[in-house]
Amino acid sequence: MTDLRELYQEVILDHYKNPRNFGDLAEATHRAVGDNPLCGDNIIVSVRIDGDRVSEVQFTGSGCAISTASASLMTESVTGKTLNDCEMAFRDFHELVTSEQGHAALGKLAVFAGVREFPSRVKCATLAWHTLRAALAGAKKVTTE
Ligand code: ZN
Repeated sequence: MTDLRELYQEVILDHYKNPRNFGDLAEATHRAVGDNPLCGDNIIVSVRIDGDRVSEVQFTGSGCAISTASASLMTESVTGKTLNDCEMAFRDFHELVTSEQGHAALGKLAVFAGVREFPSRVKCATLAWHTLRAALAGAKKVTTE
């Protein structure tokens, strides 16, 4: 039987080594910088919104494996979603990494359920989501402190 934990680590490593949607979107309508001074993670999330939908999202910057993989999976997860669904996904993800009632419905994002045992890593895992949310709200900067 495959160890779930190992599988999760594989997904995280894969997205860390080959981050999806990595770059800065030239036609971005929204953009924010996210800082996690505790770990040294720094990312920029750029988003293009068409109507009430996220049509494209990219991220760049540098960070640890957890923050990079989380940003990569976040971009995959929210592309094509409405702004309302992005907010719901943010809340679901936040709940996943902070409480026992984590959502199984999050699909691939469930790989981050394990970080709830490491409170300092929660900030790494949620950085991209906080940055996305800041960008969508028109803020330029967000920090986990
Ligand atoms: Zn980190």
